[in-house]
Amino acid sequence: MTDRRALMLQEINLNPKWHLRTSQAEVAVPPREPVLATAPASHASPSAPPPGTDDRRGAIMRMDWTQIKASVASCTHCVLHARRNKTVFGVGDENADWLFVGEGPGAEEDAQGEPFVGQAGKLLDSMLTAIKLRRGDNVYIANMVKCRPPGNRNPEPDEALACEPYLHRQIDLIKPKLIVALGKVAAVNLLAREATVASMRNKVHQYRGIPLIVTYHPAYLLRSPQDKAQAWEDLCFAVETMEGLQNARSETI
Ligand code: SF4
Repeated sequence: MTDRRALMLQEINLNPKWHLRTSQAEVAVPPREPVLATAPASHASPSAPPPGTDDRRGAIMRMDWTQIKASVASCTHCVLHARRNKTVFGVGDENADWLFVGEGPGAEEDAQGEPFVGQAGKLLDSMLTAIKLRRGDNVYIANMVKCRPPGNRNPEPDEALACEPYLHRQIDLIKPKLIVALGKVAAVNLLAREATVASMRNKVHQYRGIPLIVTYHPAYLLRSPQDKAQAWEDLCFAVETMEGLQNARSETI
């Protein structure tokens, strides 16, 4: 067992199960599929945008970090603003290679104004540690929506669409090498197609030309620990994909 694999298993609490395995071949990761070209989320809706939408998107697309943070902090563009305590903009290295995207703030995030600070956040931090990453160091963490959906429900499609320009602009500014979509809401909105997490895993998708990998949301993994093994496979896949991207880049220099 490699040091990295052992650390991953330890960090996401898979040791008892995975210690029984003795080789990578036994992990039985399904065959990788080729890169999929997918349409960006903003191109998903067949209906015309409401009046003013293009103006707002265009304005957001021209914002710098200071402007976009101020815009989010005062945003009332969808109903989620009404019951929020704090907007949750995102956190981390603004020049990160890795971008992790969740769905929306929960109660603790709404109270603190930072994404992934509850139990799910602890698990995400452990997942990052397992692949030798840590919050804020070459990693940025954001959500599809910046305000908490009441009762921790999923964001509605119109709410995700209203907030998508902010995430789009964040991605433009960060220029990550790899995006990891955490859970179905993030994956479906970023890839602009309805599908299960299971069907989207283990593939390299594209979001506006940036490779994107799908895995389970840490909150789901807390409820369904039997799927941590698959999340571990996804982390390995993400690391391999990033290494491939870095190797390809070094060969072209
Ligand atoms: Fe604005 Fe996004 Fe908050 Fe909706 S969720 S009010 S679009 S910042």
